[in-house]
Amino acid sequence: MSEKLDIKSLTLQELTEYFLSIGEKKFRAAQTYQWLHQKLVTDFDSCTNLSEGLRNKLKEQCELTALTPVRVQTSQIDGTQKYLFELADHNVIESVRMIYHHGDSVCISSQVGCKMGCRFCASTLDGCVRSLTPSEMLDQIYRIQTISGNRVSNVVIMGSGEPMDNFDNVCKFLELISSEKGLNISARNITVSTCGLVPKIRELADKKLQINLAISLHAPNDEIRKSMMPIANTYSIEEIMDACRYYFDQTGRRLTFEYSLVQGVNDSEECAVQLSHLLKGMNALVNLIPVNPIKEREYRQSERSAIVAFKNKLEKYGINVTIRREMGRDIDGACGQLRKSYIDSEEGRE
Ligand code: SAH
Repeated sequence: MSEKLDIKSLTLQELTEYFLSIGEKKFRAAQTYQWLHQKLVTDFDSCTNLSEGLRNKLKEQCELTALTPVRVQTSQIDGTQKYLFELADHNVIESVRMIYHHGDSVCISSQVGCKMGCRFCASTLDGCVRSLTPSEMLDQIYRIQTISGNRVSNVVIMGSGEPMDNFDNVCKFLELISSEKGLNISARNITVSTCGLVPKIRELADKKLQINLAISLHAPNDEIRKSMMPIANTYSIEEIMDACRYYFDQTGRRLTFEYSLVQGVNDSEECAVQLSHLLKGMNALVNLIPVNPIKEREYRQSERSAIVAFKNKLEKYGINVTIRREMGRDIDGACGQLRKSYIDSEEGRE
């Protein structure tokens, strides 16, 4: 890889320091930051108020991350779009654009693949290739906003990868995407989803950001969780709950618990009862997700009646619960499946 400076991953302050170090004025850094993070340019020559000399200097010393869309699928049902982007090193990642009445929401990937090994998830089947840089996370949003022409108002880090396994880059991304001189997306409109890396949840809590935290719980006890998610062998549900309470104490933000329902594994009414005991007294929302079956695994989606019974049981115990709308059901395939089918077909062709 090149030794060039990843200019789009720099905060305004870092960019300013860099400009001063190469003998440029401070206001030039502010202009450049605006080109990168508000006007969303993909080459230095588009920065028309910078001199040719400066543009050439930047071209020599810096790399400007710009993802290339290689496939876009659009749902005929609700307009949800899946984008497959190619990175500079030819790896591919996927991002999703969802259209809601309150604005566009983009779901980004934080890694190429994932190493967490959750049994229901397609992103992890080939392991983790590498973590994404802050600029690669940003540019998923920048490209989608540019291509669609619609402002992105919400961001969820729920694509491929485990954000807490790429902690520093994710934190830098959060700073950049919410910066006033950038897209200025409010922390309250950003959600980070994690399979539950306890020390990192605590570290994030200490930053006291106003972002939403979603925990991929998927089971009401350690035994079932271990059968679904290898990470359950490292951290118990009790440790996760403690970390969640700490997150709430530090930030005041309500927590979301994601629970993918798998037939015969975690969808009994007894599981719902155990889950309500676990969440009792917490400011929490349970997001039920009918599992999206992947062909490499035997998991099946729960019956509609089991999903409704599970929801009713939770509500009876006073737990806030929603069933996730299945956005883009027709294009879908679960998280990571578009990338996987693309890679498999490319390999098949070679
Ligand atoms: N690694 C992070 C974020 C990525 S996954 C995490 O674990 O939270 C985003 C959410 O989708 C997680 O709750 C994940 O468990 C869930 N998920 C992944 N594959 C799924 C599938 N096939 N069906 C239903 N939910 C799935």
